Amino acid sequence: MKNLEELVKELIREGFIRSESVREAMLTIDRKDFVPYIYREEAYIDEPLPIGEDQTISAPHMVAIMLELLDIRRGMKVLEIGTGSGYNACLMEYLAYPGRVITIERLKSLYYIAQENIKRCPHSENIRIVYGDGSQGYPEEAPFDRIVVTCGAPDIPQVLLEQLSEGGIMVIPVGGHYFQDLYRVIKRKGEIVKENHGSVAFVPMIGKFGFKEEFYI
Ligand code: SAM
Repeated sequence: MKNLEELVKELIREGFIRSESVREAMLTIDRKDFVPYIYREEAYIDEPLPIGEDQTISAPHMVAIMLELLDIRRGMKVLEIGTGSGYNACLMEYLAYPGRVITIERLKSLYYIAQENIKRCPHSENIRIVYGDGSQGYPEEAPFDRIVVTCGAPDIPQVLLEQLSEGGIMVIPVGGHYFQDLYRVIKRKGEIVKENHGSVAFVPMIGKFGFKEEFYI
């Protein structure tokens, strides 16, 4: 079985990890602690893995790409839509410390699993998991320095743009139910600048400003 160091070296070699801070975060937060027990042997393979309810923990290279695009700095306040296993939330908290991460999950069972998983994070007290529809963001805590959406959205929800701080960055997959393009959105002097970072495949964002649930039944 490959180990964590070997996985991180592979991600550096392939150009997915580019910064020292993301390298350190991915070496410190162990993906094995966030995958279901039966998949532990596969935790260091660069592939998505099932986490229950037809959802996945993203492949490590995709996690690294999003973290590099986000450029999270110490003290920032970060919003994540799609908690899943809690892995990405812990990585982001590591990067933002002593800042905070608010992460929203729409499926109750995953919300509970992530609550357990994040207990292994060095600063879990700075992570708040919210059960609900993240397509509406989290106005109670807005504005956010960074917003990451880890499920595919049909469009960039206007409410999320409104909850992004001036100079803030949002990373979001936008497109169809199965395939999307990964966008980095930067709010600069009130203007929205969008960059397309290529094709990706995320599970859909389901909610008021996402896809409708009945499509998947
Ligand atoms: N970031 C996660 C991790 O580190 O394990 C992986 C996220 S998984 C690819 C996408 C997650 O988005 C799923 O857990 C899914 O239930 C959630 N999701 C989909 N639509 C949502 C919504 N409207 N609000 C909150 N979570 C949503």
